[in-house]
Amino acid sequence: MMSLPPFVDAHTHLPFVANVDSIALCSFMAGELTMEAQPEMISVGIHPYQLLQKQKEDLFLLLETDLQHPRIWALGEAGLDRSIAVPLEIQQEVFIQQALMAEKLQLPLVIHAVRSFDLMMQAHKKIQPSVPWIIHGYASAMSTARPLLNKGFYLSIGVALFDKKRPIAQSLKELPLEKLFFETDTATLSIEAVYAEAAKILNMDVDVLRRQIFANFAACFKNSLDGTGLEGPYATFNR
Ligand SMILES: [Zn+2]
Repeated sequence: MMSLPPFVDAHTHLPFVANVDSIALCSFMAGELTMEAQPEMISVGIHPYQLLQKQKEDLFLLLETDLQHPRIWALGEAGLDRSIAVPLEIQQEVFIQQALMAEKLQLPLVIHAVRSFDLMMQAHKKIQPSVPWIIHGYASAMSTARPLLNKGFYLSIGVALFDKKRPIAQSLKELPLEKLFFETDTATLSIEAVYAEAAKILNMDVDVLRRQIFANFAACFKNSLDGTGLEGPYATFNR
């Protein structure tokens, strides 16, 4: 029997309970990470919310320290959020600087975007990134996704799938599977449950989905995966 690759939780803030069937990219805000942090796959970044409390210079110092952790797999979440009381110019400056760091470090960028896909497209055009840009918590319609997909963004989808009033419960069927991830973010349910809901909506065998999403993960994170024992998209993650 061919072994199945693990479920991939592309974005979680909760302590990840390791098991043989799933892996998770655990997200920390700048200054939250200690060198003792245990997760095998870590992303760290300056969240726009942090700009409500701290000066950007201080946050970048914290981020520089956090990036010394030996198991950094991605930068983020970083982003742009029109719903908070932080001037957009400051948010853009901090986002662009982090996107450039992601380029330099060759790390995928995990993105928080609230009512700011237009600005995200502008930033993408300006930077022309070589690393994957992954929009986390994507919950909108296909028409909104299309320009992002055309530019090569990946979309990570979470618990909004369970809310049938949200556009994603429909648009999932139209989104290209090879550009998707799933995530739990701050929700306490398992990543398996998110995959199961997606498979139900797509009327697809969850094992097929599992192989496809892991292949996406392998493509996005190929730099970090080197040396971990991965032998192609069907191998189990060697821990
Ligand atoms: Zn998050």
